[in-house]
Amino acid sequence: MPEGDSIRRVANKLVPLVGQTIERATTQGLFRDLVGRTIQKVEAHGKHLTIDLDNQTEIHVHQGMNGRFRSMTRADGEARLAKTSPGRASLVIATATHLYLWLTCPTVEITPRRAPRHGMGTHKLGPDVLAGDFDSRLGAERAAEHPTRRIADVLLDQRVVAGLGNIWKTESLFMCRIDPRTQVAAIPIHALAQIYETARELMQASVDSNMRDLAAYSRTNKPCPRCGALIIAYQLGDPPRWTWSCPHCQPFSAG
Ligand SMILES: [Zn+2]
Repeated sequence: MPEGDSIRRVANKLVPLVGQTIERATTQGLFRDLVGRTIQKVEAHGKHLTIDLDNQTEIHVHQGMNGRFRSMTRADGEARLAKTSPGRASLVIATATHLYLWLTCPTVEITPRRAPRHGMGTHKLGPDVLAGDFDSRLGAERAAEHPTRRIADVLLDQRVVAGLGNIWKTESLFMCRIDPRTQVAAIPIHALAQIYETARELMQASVDSNMRDLAAYSRTNKPCPRCGALIIAYQLGDPPRWTWSCPHCQPFSAG
């Protein structure tokens, strides 16, 4: 699933697009009236991506569970597109030199800027963990407003802090030696802040290096890289999500 770091990578790949003019734009193979528009800004907020155009419209993309993004030269992109069924090509933006392709994304909206958004609007999101001005202490205070919930569920709640998904939930709790099943009330505020700070650092490293180095996520029955105990897996949350932890480094006390 694309998490905040993947969306940030997409936004970084789209930086060269700023100032360029759209030669063609389609959603699911249908031509959209955006020819000649210039791209003014590309922003990632949590798992949401917005592209601002010069006519007061905005393209909003949410990649959901299975959405993919490709940036290609125009020639390579056209060849790829010719082999792709229109229904899968959620959004295509072609410039004179490049073609940008989003595949199987559940949400692509083209709306007047500042119009109220439908569905998963960014106005309901908490602060973006990867934003330059993100304050982990503020994140901790927002999390602390949910004392009876498990920390794993609160980390995934995009209304508290936006950007973390299942991977960075698992990895930041592993790094901070906190069992994912722990109630928020049992975690001191400085430790909550440390979890967000850790998630931010891990995700930023992922953006910078373009790779993920994972210690616990999806490593069922493999040795913990810190102590050698076998990583355990279980489901948490509603809807349930697989979660991994080290029973030795992240001891669980039901309180
Ligand atoms: Zn361990």
